Amino acid sequence: HSKLILPLIPPSPPLRSRAPMAAAAAISPLSLRRHHRRRDKVVVIMGATGSGKSQLSVDLAALFPSEIINSDKMQVYAGLDITTNKISPEDRLGVPHHLLGSVDPDAGELTPSDFRSLGQSVIGDISSRQKLPLIAGGSNSFIHALLAERFDPDADVFGGFDSVSHELRYNCCFLWVDVSFQVLDDYLRKRVDDMLHSGMFEELVRYYDPCRVDPPTRTGLRKAIGVPEFERCFRRRPPRRWDTWAGLDPLRRATYEEAVREIKDNTCQLAKRQIGKILLLKEGGWDLRRLDATEAFRAAMAAPGPGKGLKWAEIWDSQVLGSSTKIVKRFLEE
Ligand code: ATP
Repeated sequence: HSKLILPLIPPSPPLRSRAPMAAAAAISPLSLRRHHRRRDKVVVIMGATGSGKSQLSVDLAALFPSEIINSDKMQVYAGLDITTNKISPEDRLGVPHHLLGSVDPDAGELTPSDFRSLGQSVIGDISSRQKLPLIAGGSNSFIHALLAERFDPDADVFGGFDSVSHELRYNCCFLWVDVSFQVLDDYLRKRVDDMLHSGMFEELVRYYDPCRVDPPTRTGLRKAIGVPEFERCFRRRPPRRWDTWAGLDPLRRATYEEAVREIKDNTCQLAKRQIGKILLLKEGGWDLRRLDATEAFRAAMAAPGPGKGLKWAEIWDSQVLGSSTKIVKRFLEE
């Protein structure tokens, strides 16, 4: 495919896994192979931004021989790894990730149709190696395009639940990681602060091009939350090459704080829209299994400093990973 620029990340042996019951729940590749004569089995992890989809995908990959396919619209592109929240190479624990940072952002926007054909070939490839494809990411239009038996690029899938495709071209197990909106809203606002302290601002300063004039509608990676918000502020008060978020002069900080407020609001709006689309898919007949991660996220909010803390991990393992493992195990045995 002409939009693919980077080779797929080669499989590497899994590093230490956080998931405790790896050996017990692992399934044999044979039980997967049995089903290949029928439609390929795929597990789809859905949820709003920040709800822990990447974590769950890596946790499940430690239990079932699988590979992960990213379905986040912005994370498919190379670049802006912090701003778009790509799972870090260390956190991937050696699990192969596909369509993650592998598309050239300057080669035009990746459409749902493009994603459908790229995803199809990756699923075929993973399944042929007797591994389970785990799809994880927040773009519901990408997920719908990939899974629908018949795909109409001109249809507005989220115009109403009767436009949702009932017939799917894979045998799907849908996991929906849900967090009560108030808790998620607080968490997402804190996450933006954590991202700024992890280098998001410096990444956007490097990405900023003062000579660039965007057309009225931006495309691809330039739509990522953070890019337009900071650009507007940078135009008013240009950043200097050496500026860091922690070391900003008070004048610039005051201006840039405006962008931060917008980023927090836009991220929460995105989460709300994504939840709306997930509910529509559910109403449209998709058998989504809801996993409530609210308690885990409450614990994450109570933990001091960056990161989610030990209490989070304990609740996550028992409430989210535990239920998901049972669901996936049953699905693979069917
Ligand atoms: P739509 O049909 O509105 O395009 P979608 O479900 O296909 O929705 P979303 O994943 O909801 O796609 O993305 C919509 C917008 O949200 C993106 O264009 C971008 O502005 C922002 N966005 C999504 N994911 C990210 C991300 N990882 N980082 C930054 N911004 C993002």
